[in-house]
Amino acid sequence: MGLALRDVHFTYHPGTPIAREVLRGVDLEIREGEILSLLGPSGCGKSTLLLVAAGLLPPQRGTLLLDGKPCGGTQTAHAPLRERVGLLLQSPEDQLFADTVEADVAFGLRRAALSPREVREKTAESLRSVGMEPSLYSPLSPFALSRGEMRRVALAGVLVREPRFLLLDEPFSGLDGEGREKLASLLRDLRGNGTGILFVTHEWEEVDLLADRAAVLFEGRLLLEGEKKKVLGDREGLLRAGLEPPPRVELLHRLRARYPSLPPYADDAREAAEKVDILMRGCAG
Ligand code: ADP
Ligand code: MG
Repeated sequence: MGLALRDVHFTYHPGTPIAREVLRGVDLEIREGEILSLLGPSGCGKSTLLLVAAGLLPPQRGTLLLDGKPCGGTQTAHAPLRERVGLLLQSPEDQLFADTVEADVAFGLRRAALSPREVREKTAESLRSVGMEPSLYSPLSPFALSRGEMRRVALAGVLVREPRFLLLDEPFSGLDGEGREKLASLLRDLRGNGTGILFVTHEWEEVDLLADRAAVLFEGRLLLEGEKKKVLGDREGLLRAGLEPPPRVELLHRLRARYPSLPPYADDAREAAEKVDILMRGCAG
């Protein structure tokens, strides 16, 4: 069960002098109960890919499959995507519009057959899940909040619909250490409940913290895709995609020129140090 993009092509303003081909044949699947991180240099098409995957921009070529069934293209066929896929935009202010935080979050429930009380309860629950006390925040204007708070309100507005697939565009940007850990823990809980999550990031730390798989987009195509270890350990591939490899991978690479028995990948700096330590002890003995 998953949300898949098959050979997806997308061009902004096709057939005009300002046409810009952004996605050039993307194949990617987000599976239920997993977290996939999407990386790539600025301007490579990450945000566009999310808009297409959420059914907001129709691809010119290729298909979207929800649990193996094609969707997207006509208005009706879009409905299942809109219903099951939640998207958090890169700029939270683009996603907020109502007079109050409560109204903004509750907007996601407008089509659900719920009583006003149920709507209030679900809205409050969703705000709590992103660490916002409803009694404090509900009456405020979302535009009077800090950017970090706005992003959390926008996320509450997405989560209130209980999407099966969650697409998050740089959700960690601007969060401090505590905010980052809280969001990571929320996403892990959602994964545990079977939600399939794709998040865009520029930080290895966030990939390490959360991802099961990673994908790297470069010039509108997926250059790397696979288990986190495989992608983060592919130093040459990352460099080709214009990304700086994780420091521990770079360290092992440099030492491998001299000590070829070292592995190319370690889960973290501590493990890299252990591998080097074992090697050094062998050399001393
Ligand atoms: P990323 O999120 O990886 O930084 P984007 O998907 O935002 O990349 O943008 C990919 C390319 O498409 C960029 O060159 C950007 O300038 C261009 N682009 C984005 N949005 C539009 C738009 N609405 N109209 C025309 N070009 C756009
Ligand atoms: Mg972007």
